[in-house]
Amino acid sequence: MMNARIMEIDGAQGEGGGQVLRSSLALSVCSGTPLRMHGIRAGRRKPGLMRQHQTAVRLAAQICGATVEGDRLRSTTLEFVPGAPRAGDYHCAVGTAGSTMLVFQTVLWPLLVAEGRSRLVFEGGTHNPMAPPFDFIERSLLPVLRAMGAEIEVKLERAGFYPAGGGRLVVEVEGGPSLAPWRCLERSGDPEVRGRALLSNLPVDIGRRELQVVHQRLGWPRSRLGVERVSSDGPGNVVLLEVTHGAMTTVACSFGTKGVLAEDVSAHAVEQIERFLAANVPVGEHLADQLIIPLALAGGGSFRTVSPTLHTRTQAQIVQRWLPVTIEIIDEGNDAARVDVRPRSS
Ligand code: ATP
Repeated sequence: MMNARIMEIDGAQGEGGGQVLRSSLALSVCSGTPLRMHGIRAGRRKPGLMRQHQTAVRLAAQICGATVEGDRLRSTTLEFVPGAPRAGDYHCAVGTAGSTMLVFQTVLWPLLVAEGRSRLVFEGGTHNPMAPPFDFIERSLLPVLRAMGAEIEVKLERAGFYPAGGGRLVVEVEGGPSLAPWRCLERSGDPEVRGRALLSNLPVDIGRRELQVVHQRLGWPRSRLGVERVSSDGPGNVVLLEVTHGAMTTVACSFGTKGVLAEDVSAHAVEQIERFLAANVPVGEHLADQLIIPLALAGGGSFRTVSPTLHTRTQAQIVQRWLPVTIEIIDEGNDAARVDVRPRSS
């Protein structure tokens, strides 16, 4: 059902990045409310739609039969009039090595709302800096969504690293049933840890040096650390560190970069894990911003996390515009905060 109201969104607000656009697109489709956006990615060095954002707009439009104006590259304004989302088979090539994971996150929510089974094939980047790597989606986000009742399967058929891309990801989503509220305030049980260094077309010694830093600084046993060779179009390297408490897994990552020592790459992931462990909260910084939409769609929930990023605060601001919820972020001190999502009393 189409809503006659038009939602005006200023893309410059808060973080002023691509997430403001992606969240607005997803919630425009889920709520049936037309979106008019200006200042798209105004906070970034190269504002406007980049390939990844344009792909997200076009796939969202295809899924719901939307009418779209302003979807050319570098456009800073967009008009998007959604129809009802339809489950089905979709194929999406994110040109260059654009992140397939961010496009997936845009269309996941509409496909969870649409009745029926969808199958999506994505081609592009699967392990990109400044975006969730595949392993984060699989190990950290999806277990929470499944606990809320969602049926989602993901399969990485081929990794795609920046800049060569060429990755392939298959997603199956069963849409229809509504999500249940979710609550997670404390960690449960003793932590289980795992560290991996993924390498594509690079010497194995890089991964060994990276994991040596993890062993020395975090004291993780060597039996929980491994170098994995993956097949991909170009060179690629990422250190992925996981900490699991009961049903919750946090994934920290750091990407190998030309000119940066393997030890320094790994130290960056180690520092993220040290911070997370010290804060004594169950939800890490990236998962926090990514849980705001599902909790709002479910009509409620709470979790404790590290001090929220600008991404999380911006996400809360945007989602409250679209959905009838109140989102409160309470600073608890010592790098901890609590996020409460409640139905808005009218
Ligand atoms: P931009 O507009 O900045 O060029 P963008 O479209 O890539 O960027 P952002 O608005 O910066 O998007 O949003 C990036 C998203 O990726 C956020 O949801 C953030 O939580 C997520 N993210 C970034 N790094 C990681 C990481 N290491 N692990 C998991 N998620 C991540």
